[in-house]
Amino acid sequence: MREFGYQRAHDVAGAVALLDAAPEARFLGGGTNLVDLMKTGVERPALLVDVTELPLDGIEVTADGGLRVGATATNSDLAAHPEVRRRYPALAEAVLAGASGQLRNMATVGGNLLQRTRCGYFADTARPCNKRTPGSGCSAREGVHHNHAILGASAHCVATHPSDMAVALAALDAVVSYETTSGTGELAWEDFYLPVGDTPHRETALPPGALITGVTLPPAPVAARSRYRKIRERASYAFAIGSAAAALDVRDGVVHEVRLAFGAVASRPWRARTAERALTGGPATAAAFAAAADAELAAAEPLPDNGYKVPLLRNVTVALLSELADRTEPTEGAQR
Ligand SMILES: Cc1cc2nc3c(=O)[nH]c(=O)nc-3n(C[C@H](O)[C@H](O)[C@H](O)COP(=O)(O)OP(=O)(O)OC[C@H]3O[C@@H](n4cnc5c(N)ncnc54)[C@H](O)[C@@H]3O)c2cc1C
Ligand code: SF4
Repeated sequence: MREFGYQRAHDVAGAVALLDAAPEARFLGGGTNLVDLMKTGVERPALLVDVTELPLDGIEVTADGGLRVGATATNSDLAAHPEVRRRYPALAEAVLAGASGQLRNMATVGGNLLQRTRCGYFADTARPCNKRTPGSGCSAREGVHHNHAILGASAHCVATHPSDMAVALAALDAVVSYETTSGTGELAWEDFYLPVGDTPHRETALPPGALITGVTLPPAPVAARSRYRKIRERASYAFAIGSAAAALDVRDGVVHEVRLAFGAVASRPWRARTAERALTGGPATAAAFAAAADAELAAAEPLPDNGYKVPLLRNVTVALLSELADRTEPTEGAQR
């Protein structure tokens, strides 16, 4: 690891000023991803600006009934918060499905959103990788790619985004707030992660030097009936090979509202809008859930070794929505 400077920021304006003055600097959250990448030489910052002492660790209900989560709140605090568990259970489940207890105690919300892909070639500085070294090529297309993207990828990169938390946030229409030396800004979730295209090294629409200050969840009564399901190669402490976050409101057997997002299938959490459109207003049956998943996954372009993700995501969708439908449809005579 090469030498680097370290400074702890105590206020937001000071943090963004430090980064502005040192373009090779990086914000340091829990360090659970950044420090690993520094050890392998993938990241080579000259300065780390520690943001964990900033007053951005609050989690509070907003005046309109949504939720505001500060960027330095730890993953553990987010998952354990009673209002998160009550109003947005899929978010609590997604966070708890990630990493380990020790890592979640360190990892921050801002850092989780900006964690880098787990593509093995990205971490291996001896191999070509367009995301790490633009223009060098993509080793995964012809190499090991069983856990790579099936949706929205490009010839330049087929990596997936590894976050579980971000999949739930995609289904919940989160808004990301940030601050730069020019002022504050917001990005709607759909605009936050960039399509991979021919610039896989550009992952978000954040302006240079932006500090993520928090994430806001709009009020969403349907989210109280939400779940996250993660499929992985071993029972714990592993990244997803496919996952889904869903929220469902069924009334008299008909889908009144549905949210669905997939993880581990694309360079960003994949909001399944086609499936949502197919389901809304139709029957809440396993056959309809399967047809909606098929409609969404019709756009899939699997590589030779990751075609298994198509039926996997279909099955996860049917299982998750069927479970939610059983839970949300009141039994005869019960109050909604
Ligand atoms: C063994 C292991 C297993 C894991 N398993 C999973 C898993 O199953 N699921 C999962 O989702 N994740 C998993 N993770 C990843 C883990 O969730 C992330 O490493 C963690 O969330 C990153 O948060 P952090 O605060 O430590 O980020 P850091 O490592 O501190 O930072 C990550 C990036 O975010 C930037 N950054 C941090 N905070 C801000 C901010 N406020 N504004 C702007 N930029 C910022 C940093 O500059 C850096 O580029 C695993 C990690 C490990 C090591
Ligand atoms: S899939 Fe993306 S991250 Fe992986 S080697 Fe190709 S360009 Fe690099």
